[in-house]
Amino acid sequence: MKNKSETLLLSNVTDAHSHIWSHEFANDRSQVLERASDAGLVCIVDISYDVDPELRKQKARTQGINLVCVAGIHPHDAKDFDQLEKALLNQLSAGSYDAIGEIGLDYYRNLSPVDQQVTVFQKQLDLAIEYDLPVVIHSRDADDDTYKILKDWSQRAPRNYGPDREIGMIHCFSSDAGLAEKYIELGFLISISGIATFDNVKDTPEVVLRIDTNKLLVETDAPYLAPVPHRGTRNEPALVTDTIKFISALKKMPSQKIADSTTKNAYRLFRLNHVKGDLQ
Ligand SMILES: [Zn+2]
Ligand SMILES: [Zn+2]
Repeated sequence: MKNKSETLLLSNVTDAHSHIWSHEFANDRSQVLERASDAGLVCIVDISYDVDPELRKQKARTQGINLVCVAGIHPHDAKDFDQLEKALLNQLSAGSYDAIGEIGLDYYRNLSPVDQQVTVFQKQLDLAIEYDLPVVIHSRDADDDTYKILKDWSQRAPRNYGPDREIGMIHCFSSDAGLAEKYIELGFLISISGIATFDNVKDTPEVVLRIDTNKLLVETDAPYLAPVPHRGTRNEPALVTDTIKFISALKKMPSQKIADSTTKNAYRLFRLNHVKGDLQ
């Protein structure tokens, strides 16, 4: 018999990391947003910077979705920092961006030299302090260096960041629960992607079980990483509900509770309390 909660429609859902203004959605972005709204989404954190953030927010609002706009230079592009820096500074000073990201280190693909990745990561962490914005962290095969840099940064930040005042999220977290707890100590939320649903993954279910829902986010990273049963197809924000249902089964908690907590966490991190929403 089918689990009853799987047939329930969710509400108050947030996709904490996706790229819906990327070219993969050029032909059907309106339908993608409509499906997100039908699936219960109220907020999407959008990582892209080619289109005016106010226009993007307006378009999402027509579907009842709050868009969080994030700008930053990905570690893959660190080698081009000199050409990209000016545009980033213009975007940040215009004031329409809600966070800096995704920034970090990627030693898996190594598309920029490591020393440049580190420098560009640190420069953008400094910008986050200067603009008082939260950060969205990308770290792949670089756990030790990413953690060390974030630890140093959290200590020299002018405000006392920490578990009670979050300053960022570790997107697509796929390391072990011990590291997740160390990041939470520094003031980060842990974001779970569709990777959690893949059967060859060892650590993420343990992370889901051990970390309290008030420190978790859920994300698609659309168009990538579609969760089971959609693995291998183009991902989109509506499918974050499959990851929520997976977490709900693991933690033995109602899906709606996972949706409510993760949305509340996202609103707190991105300081969206002033935006209309179903939150208590
Ligand atoms: Zn990433
Ligand atoms: Zn991403």
